[in-house]
Amino acid sequence: MKDIFGREIYYLRLSVTERCNLRCRYCMPEDGICKKDHEEMLTEDEMILAVEAAASLGFRKLRITGGEPLVKKNILSICSRASAVEGIEEVCLTTNGILLPQMARQLREAGVHRVNISLDTLSREKYAHITRRDNLEAALAGIESAIDAGFSRIKINTVLIGGFNDDEIQELAALTVRYPVDVRFIELMPMGDHGEFGQNAMIPCDEVLTRLPELEPVRADGGVARLFRLPDAQGNIGLISPVSSHFCAECNRIRLTADGKLKPCLHSSEEFSIKGLDFDGMIRQFESAIRSKPVCHEELSAQKRSGAGRNMNRIGG
Ligand code: SAM
Ligand code: SF4
Repeated sequence: MKDIFGREIYYLRLSVTERCNLRCRYCMPEDGICKKDHEEMLTEDEMILAVEAAASLGFRKLRITGGEPLVKKNILSICSRASAVEGIEEVCLTTNGILLPQMARQLREAGVHRVNISLDTLSREKYAHITRRDNLEAALAGIESAIDAGFSRIKINTVLIGGFNDDEIQELAALTVRYPVDVRFIELMPMGDHGEFGQNAMIPCDEVLTRLPELEPVRADGGVARLFRLPDAQGNIGLISPVSSHFCAECNRIRLTADGKLKPCLHSSEEFSIKGLDFDGMIRQFESAIRSKPVCHEELSAQKRSGAGRNMNRIGG
């Protein structure tokens, strides 16, 4: 379905839980989430009905996210049912990778085509600081399990934070030489406790080009990242710049939160509830949400917080 600005909206990002086994400082408060009544959250059947409603409006790409989707008990069932919905051509999953060693193969069997794995640092101490959990080894094992399970086009997502991991740009980029993976640097968005990292934390992704002059441009693949490649690399380096140069003109997505709210725009608090609705009711809410997509979100900066109205773990990243 097209929005009122002529953009084709065909990509649904479904958050299956707000819970997580990490506590990344820019995403989630240390004491976790406010415990909500089970009845407020979407059931598995409602999630699948929402995917069916979306597919009937022409959605063909689905990303399963969270919170951490792999802590959700019925995640394999959600993936296999969602991937079987007629019209859904690609199912991707975004994860911190901690549980991939146990689950990578089962996720492939459940119809997940691709995985993105988040990793901000290769230092054990820094990983423990940023995620508030000493789990770097499990995350690295998760990347290897995803490769062993045969996922192709694995993407490592790294939030670029000035004064925290900009000194690791070369080392993180070198993962594309060591493994058949892409590494994508993403600008820190002013959400969660981003202020903790100080005034200079929000740096533009172009910093990567300054630090890696050997990068060669690569033709874009239709996603939001500008692509480059290191000599002898097996995968690309992607630069995703939601702050320094937003990509609203190419926006093709709608987010559905675990408590059943459709968000027309990541950085707006406008939401449309589908909780408790039947198929037709869901379709109507999808249509309203798509019609409400703004042409562009408001400017973001260290001083100007996102208007999302929720922490990222409660939206779906
Ligand atoms: N738990 C999974 C994970 O970490 O990949 C999926 C959910 S997480 C909210 C999705 C993505 O959002 C992660 O790559 C995370 O780094 C990113 N993210 C969260 N807060 C962010 C922020 N303030 N700025 C930029 N990216 C953020
Ligand atoms: Fe959890 Fe992902 Fe948020 Fe980190 S970024 S706290 S792993 S949901």
